[in-house]
Amino acid sequence: MADCIFCRIARGDIAAQVVRRSADAVAFHDLTPQAPVHVLIIPTTHYAALRDATGPDGEAMLGKLMLFAAQVATDLGLDATGYRLVTNTGPDGGQSVFHLHLHLLGGRRLAWPPG
Ligand code: AMP
Repeated sequence: MADCIFCRIARGDIAAQVVRRSADAVAFHDLTPQAPVHVLIIPTTHYAALRDATGPDGEAMLGKLMLFAAQVATDLGLDATGYRLVTNTGPDGGQSVFHLHLHLLGGRRLAWPPG
């Protein structure tokens, strides 16, 4: 989508601190990190939110996105200490950018339940 900020990052039109890139996904550092490691993982194809990732295409994309996220966590040295992978959906989930993304958080002990 032309006016979607994460589509623009995926295309390279807007600068981001990219950690890893594939044909299907991009990982980049969050602008306002909530943990020592806070990376966003997005599909290069636009889906507004998790609920829009339906059917065989959505299933394939989500599988690739999760494997990609796990690889990014390994690359960043988080396997031994652990990490959290979350996707915020809709108002109650606190979603503010309407292009599906996973937050990869790590580098400190994270509280549960979340606020
Ligand atoms: P959410 O609130 O779950 O939709 O998460 C959106 C996230 O995107 C927030 O953590 C923002 O800090 C982050 N964000 C917004 N714009 C950018 C950007 N241009 N580069 C990196 N992170 C961004």
